[in-house]
Amino acid sequence: MNKRFSSRLVHLGDRLGDSVSISKSIPIAMTSVYSFDDVESLDRVYEGKARGYIYTRNGNPVHDALAEIMSGIEEGEAALTYSSGMAAISLSILAHVKAGDHIIAASVLYGGSFQFIKSELARFDISVTFADVVNEDISSCFMPNTRLVYVETISNPTMEAVDLEAIAKTAHRHGAKLVVDNSFATPVICQPLLLGADVVVYSATKYIGGHSDVTAGIVVSDKETIGRIYESGLLFGPTLSPFDGWLLIRSLRTLELRVRQHSQNALSLAEYFENHPAISAVYYPGLPASPTHAAAGRLFNNDLYGGMLSIDLRGGEPQAYALLRNLETIKFVPSLAGVSTSTSYPARTSHRSLSDEELKKARISKGLIRISTGLEDISDIISEFDTALSKIY
Ligand SMILES: *Cc1c(COP(=O)(O)O)cnc(C)c1O
Repeated sequence: MNKRFSSRLVHLGDRLGDSVSISKSIPIAMTSVYSFDDVESLDRVYEGKARGYIYTRNGNPVHDALAEIMSGIEEGEAALTYSSGMAAISLSILAHVKAGDHIIAASVLYGGSFQFIKSELARFDISVTFADVVNEDISSCFMPNTRLVYVETISNPTMEAVDLEAIAKTAHRHGAKLVVDNSFATPVICQPLLLGADVVVYSATKYIGGHSDVTAGIVVSDKETIGRIYESGLLFGPTLSPFDGWLLIRSLRTLELRVRQHSQNALSLAEYFENHPAISAVYYPGLPASPTHAAAGRLFNNDLYGGMLSIDLRGGEPQAYALLRNLETIKFVPSLAGVSTSTSYPARTSHRSLSDEELKKARISKGLIRISTGLEDISDIISEFDTALSKIY
């Protein structure tokens, strides 16, 4: 039975034992290895003839429960868990390419992903074309050796919704796969596999974890692709701690509630900023004025647009620095998706590896502040920004 999203979120991954009672929360299998009675038993597990675990880098019951929840809510066939989003991203890309291949990537990406694609892939003779995937047709970027298109659901920090459906069609027409970083949207807002993507990757450090206490990554795809990523992940070795996996399972149970609240607060905050004279632009796909609002409405679930927004201050860098200083409980945090509202300054944090020219191309001005809207009462969030802005404008 294919239960509804929130029911799946709460029950998937439950482990049934053979005793009359089972722990209500999944036990943390905090072990690096398993013991066997004899060599024959180990052989049977290796050969898939008996169920069991061997060594946590190869697999752990917490990883499997987490993967079951993620593939279930994403509606993919299988999933893998890693110790960081970058591990999930780099392994997913590497599993599709070899020396001499070419990939296409969005020109606006998380700084680490941009740097990995630009610098690390080059060392393995894999070339890349960066493209404006929001405003341009990428058809002309394909070459006979293009294997992969890599994009994020919501571009960072200008918060534009990327038309995954159209890009998946174009990629497939050219024999390439589409890999999507869905960290900002989460499966509550967008399910890229249902829109045609081949692989979905997460920095689970963000909304999946949601409490600023875990660094982790997740990949969801079809069985064959997951099998290939699994083999190379075994050798690169970014194993997720079972304890961190357990924290993610705990967090996932409330994902839908949290993402709803983050999104509703972000929309109200964006509407407040839209009417403030100190602010020249508000970037949020939930605003009707956003250039990608229509696309977001078509691609996103539940009329939700996420907790992330950005603002451009008329006064540029000095005003941006002053605003960050003037805020009290809203901290300057070079990450996102925690329970409390936080700010970031992309030019010096997530995108600090970009040159001035690359920053300009990504439309990241020196007055741009990114906001991760938390779960506080919205009137408190607005009032704190209002007080801080009144001191500089
Ligand atoms: C944070 C982030 C990453 C990197 O994830 P880590 O867990 O820090 O390795 C990748 N993509 C996006 C969109 C992110 O926000």
